[in-house]
Parts: sequence; structure tokens; C-alpha cells
Amino acid sequence: MEHSHAVIGAGPSGLAAARNLQRHGLAWEGYELGPGVGGLWDIDSPRSTVYESAHLISSKHTTEFLEFPMRAEVADYPSHRELLAYFRDFAAHFDLTSGFRFHTEVTAVTPHPDGGFTVTSTGPDGAREARHASVLVANGTLSEPNRPVLPGRFDGELIHTSEYKRAQVFAGKRVLVVGAGNSGCDIAVDAVHHAASVDISVRRGYYFVPKYVLGRPADTLNQGRPLPPRLKQAIDSRLLKLFTGDPVRFGLPKPDHRIYESHPVVNSLVLHHLGHGDITVRPDVERLDGDGVRFRDGSRAAYDLVVLATGYRLHYPFLDPALLRWSGTGGAPDLYLNIFSPAHPDLFVLGMIEASGIGWQGRYEQAELVAAYLRARTEDPAAAAALEARAAGPRPDLSGGYRYLGLERMSYYVNKDAYRRAVRAEIEALAAPAGAGR
Ligand SMILES: Cc1cc2nc3c(=O)[nH]c(=O)nc-3n(C[C@H](O)[C@H](O)[C@H](O)COP(=O)(O)OP(=O)(O)OC[C@H]3O[C@@H](n4cnc5c(N)ncnc54)[C@H](O)[C@@H]3O)c2cc1C
Repeated sequence: MEHSHAVIGAGPSGLAAARNLQRHGLAWEGYELGPGVGGLWDIDSPRSTVYESAHLISSKHTTEFLEFPMRAEVADYPSHRELLAYFRDFAAHFDLTSGFRFHTEVTAVTPHPDGGFTVTSTGPDGAREARHASVLVANGTLSEPNRPVLPGRFDGELIHTSEYKRAQVFAGKRVLVVGAGNSGCDIAVDAVHHAASVDISVRRGYYFVPKYVLGRPADTLNQGRPLPPRLKQAIDSRLLKLFTGDPVRFGLPKPDHRIYESHPVVNSLVLHHLGHGDITVRPDVERLDGDGVRFRDGSRAAYDLVVLATGYRLHYPFLDPALLRWSGTGGAPDLYLNIFSPAHPDLFVLGMIEASGIGWQGRYEQAELVAAYLRARTEDPAAAAALEARAAGPRPDLSGGYRYLGLERMSYYVNKDAYRRAVRAEIEALAAPAGAGR
């Protein structure tokens, strides 16, 4: 009997997996713990981390699936509601929805002695075990909160961004947002319109990129052949100074890195509010202190609500970390192209990439590569074996020549151009006529 391929998650990556397995004529079955497709873009799904004000930070044309463009009337930076509608349309258009079991959580993925995996899940019909030829893990990277342990005790309310949904929670409160990444800045801007006061604690300087430059989405201006990193960094940091000014003027620290060596913050509203005195910059937190917080510069302020915008961590609770060549805590699984595990030939991770501008098409290409490889295993075993040999060898450089900051959250960061080039090269090698080589 032929076993189907399992897809875990019906977010953008899981949908891309289902669609590509379908395109290659491979049987599949999907598992999704939420009520429908859309992943974290469904604000009502249990592991969603979007909030009412969330919109894309990359523009729609650099983010959408190429084979399914967003409707012309959709805004440049659509809201989470618009994006959920897009994923529902995508799944309906390609007839993918009925292939998923919804409200069904995968609790264990264990290797089967005869190949493939046993997938254990719990859903509306209770517990279930099913054997699958392979497993494509697409359970997302931005759902498991990274909560630093701050010394001291806080008597007010302390939440992580994953728990934040609506700005009304700020009404009349003195608010501190810890962290100035993309979610932290969005949430600080939300708070301005409701809170009694808003402070933002930052550990380092960031580059703030506006959503529009000369009336066009900023990320549509740098398409085409990538410039060498140093040249691009020099040009873009000058342009940025021209358009958004120097963040140091607003009280933010000077970045300790060059632009693109960390994920840029796509938000100019936060600078606008800093310039209006609506948000105050604070240094790193030293300790929680009863009704307030003490900072590294010795200052102290009282707060009613502290929001930890301290990011997320990788989380694959249903898998033995050894199968991912991972410690299970810090860093990231050691996978070829962030997808293939040399520890098991039937295990694939999708969506475990962070990159500026990779969009859902970058995730779609990951899925395309896995589906092409699975098909090649029966139709062109030599090409499949060649990929396996590369997966067992040294890791290719996916940095595009940028020196990324050695931070936890950068452990699976890639340069979008270098990454997509490497994935496409593998897809082309699998598509080449048998015996043509690479
Ligand atoms: C506020 C915010 C703004 C963002 N803006 C952008 C942007 O502008 N551009 C961009 O490209 N990306 C953006 N992202 C990143 C976002 O993660 C991706 O767009 C995309 O959602 C990743 O898709 P995914 O399918 O890999 O993961 P997810 O969307 O997280 O989907 C994972 C799915 O797996 C399911 N699941 C998890 N565990 C299990 C289990 N054990 N069993 C069954 N199902 C399970 C979840 O319920 C979920 O539906 C943003 C994220 C946030 C939070």
C-alpha cells in the first residue's frame, strides 16, 4: 500500500506544501490544529500571534504566491483579515481545503521501522495514528513566545506580544514595551492612541525603513539584480538617512551593526511618534521593581502594563530534536537549505527561514523543491541521490555576503537572493533530464 505524505500546518508554508505535492501528483494529508487555513493570519486560530492592527510589512507583490496574485483592489500592505481571505481563496481555488483535518493537533511524529513516519494526532474524533511516507513540517516559527526571565517582581500586568490582540487593553495605562522589533514598534504605535504614557525599552539601535518611498512601496524599488552587500549597505543607509532621518535624534541608540545585518524594522510611524513626544525611549531593563521597572542607566519609572516584545523561538514539540539535528533549545536545527534533515530522509521542514523580503513565494519554492525531490525518488533516483549527497555535505553559504549579528533569532536567517538562488538550483537539477547532472 502507498502511504500519503503528511503536511503539518495549513499556514502559507503548509498550503504551499499541499499545492506542490498536488502539482507533482503525490498523495497528501494535512493536519491543522486551528479551525481552517491561513496559519497565524487567522487571528482566531489558537496559535495565531497577529493583533487587530497587524498588516503586512512587506508589500503584497513581493509577498504573494506568484501563481495566485492578490486581487488588484487589495491594498499594498493588506490587513490580517484580507490575508486570511486570500489564503482561503488560494486553498479553495486549488481544492486544497478538504485535504486537511482541522481542529487536529499533531502530538507525535515517530519514525516507522519500515520507512516514513507514524503521525499521532488528536482531533474531533479523538486520538489517531496514521502512517505516512514522509512528513512536511510547516508549523510556523512565530508562535512560541520567547520570554526572558527578568529579575525582580512586577505588581502590574505583564504580557508577551503573543497575548496582545486589541489596543483597548492600553486604555489609561502607563505602558512599557520591551523590545523594538517589528511587533514591538507596531504595538507601541497602537498604545499611543489609548495609553496614559508609552515607553519603549531598547537594547540596541535599529534601522527603521519606511513603508513608502516616493509614493511607492519601499520594497518594490530594489528589485532586479542584487548589488554587492557593501555597496547596497552604503547606498541604502544613505537613502534611509535622507527619508527617515537619524534615529539617534529621537533618542534611540546608534546601531552597532550595518544595515541588513539584522532584520530591519519596517515602521516610520514609531519615529513620527517619538518626534511628537508620544513615545519615550528607555534603555535595557535591569530589573522589575514592584510597581515599576529599573533600567540599566539607573533610571526608574512606574508602569501599569509591561509588554514583552521579545520575539519567538523555534518549537517542534512533536519531534525528537535529534531527528532535526538540534539541541531542542537554543539555535536552530542543522538542516540543508533549512529544509532537509540528514538524520532522516523522509523529514522536511518548511518555513524555517527568516529573511528580509523572502515572502510566501520563497516558502512556496521550498515546497516545490521537496515535492520535486519526492517525485524524483521514484522517477529519477540518481538526481534524488545527488541531492541527498549534497544534503549530507557542508552547508552552503546562504548569507549573500552579509555578516549577520550572532543573535539567537538570527540563527536561521538567510539572504533572500542567495537562498532563492540555491533552492532554484536544486529544483532545476531535479528537473534536468535523467543523467544530465548538475
Ligand atoms: C505581526 C506579524 C507580521 C508579519 N508580517 C509579515 C510580512 O509582512 N511578510 C512576510 O512574509 N511574513 C510576515 N510575517 C511572518 C509570518 O510568519 C509568515 O507570513 C507566514 O505566516 C509563515 O507561514 P507558515 O505557514 O510557515 O507559519 P504559520 O502562519 O505560523 O502557520 C503554521 C500553522 O501550523 C499550525 N500548527 C502548529 N502546530 C501544529 C500542530 N502540532 N498540529 C497541527 N497544526 C499545527 C498552526 O495552527 C498554524 O496554522 C508576519 C508575522 C507576524 C506575527
